[in-house]
Amino acid sequence: MLAGLMQNVPLTLNLIRERVADLYPNKTVTTRYPHAIHVIGYGEVLDRAGHIANFLQDIGITRGERVATLAWNSHRHLELYMAVPCMGAVLHTINARLLGPDIARLLDHADDRALFVDRSIWKTIGHEIDLPRRVRHVVVMEDEPDQMLDPPARAGTTQAHYEDMIRPHQAAFAWPVLSEDEVASLCYTSGTTGNPKGVLYSHRSTTLHTLACLFADGIAMRERDVCLPAVPMFHANAWGFPYAALMAGANLALPCRQTDPTSLVELIEAAHVTMATAVPTVWIGFLDHLRRDASALGRISSLKRLPVGGAAIGRSFIDDFTRYGIEDMHCWGMTEISPLGLTNVERSDLDDAQVRETRTAQGLPIPGCRLRIVDADGARCVTDGKMPGELQISSPWAAGAYFDRAAEEKGLHPEGSFVVDEGRVWLRTGDIATSDPHGYVRIVDRAKDLIKSGGEWISSQALELQLMNHPDVREAAVVARPDPKWQERPVICVALHEDTKELRERFQQDYGSALSEHFPKWQIPQEVVFLTELPKGKTGKIDKIALRTAMQPAQ
Ligand code: AMP
Repeated sequence: MLAGLMQNVPLTLNLIRERVADLYPNKTVTTRYPHAIHVIGYGEVLDRAGHIANFLQDIGITRGERVATLAWNSHRHLELYMAVPCMGAVLHTINARLLGPDIARLLDHADDRALFVDRSIWKTIGHEIDLPRRVRHVVVMEDEPDQMLDPPARAGTTQAHYEDMIRPHQAAFAWPVLSEDEVASLCYTSGTTGNPKGVLYSHRSTTLHTLACLFADGIAMRERDVCLPAVPMFHANAWGFPYAALMAGANLALPCRQTDPTSLVELIEAAHVTMATAVPTVWIGFLDHLRRDASALGRISSLKRLPVGGAAIGRSFIDDFTRYGIEDMHCWGMTEISPLGLTNVERSDLDDAQVRETRTAQGLPIPGCRLRIVDADGARCVTDGKMPGELQISSPWAAGAYFDRAAEEKGLHPEGSFVVDEGRVWLRTGDIATSDPHGYVRIVDRAKDLIKSGGEWISSQALELQLMNHPDVREAAVVARPDPKWQERPVICVALHEDTKELRERFQQDYGSALSEHFPKWQIPQEVVFLTELPKGKTGKIDKIALRTAMQPAQ
């Protein structure tokens, strides 16, 4: 190494922790619990993170071991966001909308050693979760006040209450010096077959992603902002917004699980929120509320910016918010890229017509994120805004492989989600996109066999597999139909062995209860389309593109 190089400071979340301690102990996080609004300073959040780190150390959690959370957006979850990675363990945030057996599988796959769970979740689905033996400690977090409702502790597992556990431990903790390549957190995303895929965020990737959120041409979060992430903290670190807010010194407002318009208005008013983020479904309901209740507008006058992602937004969505004085920024991302990849910022070399035209595009790659759009042979598509191809991403905060313990143990580097080309790894996003001559990317389709409803994934293949177990079903496919509220809802297209009225009625009556054994209610399609035969492509496989096209509303 040449003498005279710059300091080699590791890019770890300790940079955020230290900055908050130095500069922002008085900034606040406001949580809207169902029973009360709670405010706490960042200094106290860090102290409590120290208590938690001491607790975790005492119960034997060591560097690299996984600690799971099953929780909504709250100050306690934020404390864990700091404590677990900064002590060198790995924060595994689990989707609280899954069924108990699926949660148990994730706990097992991740080899979690402790679970922090919100009381509201524990009391409703705790009994369905068959805890793997390696999960030795459960800590119940008080998002609801009533202790009487906690399920009893499991044999072989200790169960404590978060606040009782915090008190006896010290705030001072000897935070270790970590390497930037250590794992900070683990998040699972839906696989097409229904088997989730783990994405391991390193300290380096999360720190760089956090900085990128602060770029003026990223999310442009600033110290004077008050940020409300209404996207769950179990979804790709709430899109990185909590870490970005801590790094920027912006106040946070956390909605717990209440993302209905009335609760959001209340929180925006109470915390003077300036920017909020969630999937379009949340904001579509919010817009309806503003239209119905003119007084709400005065209560949310602090709200200025709305980075929206997770699904596409249309022109009327943008125009409606603009009319209310709120600027929304279309973003695109995915769990695999931490998740921010594209933001729709206005280039100075566009004329007015081009600005209007590009507003609905997903945007330009944020600095540090490189993309390419390729055809089926891997050749780059023409950037004429018309030629579609697969969007691929290369970035220090994009996954290079999935977390696969079995493959890791066998020394394998699995699956076809990544390609090595042009001297770098590219993540295949499964999104079909075009790029125009200015670099604006527009998502036009999805190659992956998944349906995204209200920001949550539904696996068509997993549903189809279960439908095929129905004795009357000859062939079945599940495809997305556009939906004004949820963006997409799954529709069952089915051909029965005998296409009679009686069999159709029988299927209508009992497919729901058959599916409910395997899927949460929100994943179960409400709509069935009966066909005598499903359309097939050249290879004899069901032509889902034809089915999906048939589901589009008439132009
Ligand atoms: P997730 O990993 O759950 O965050 O989902 C990522 C996927 O959501 C992307 O690969 C896209 O298919 C979809 N997605 C995210 N943002 C947008 C957007 N702005 N427009 C269209 N699709 C989006």
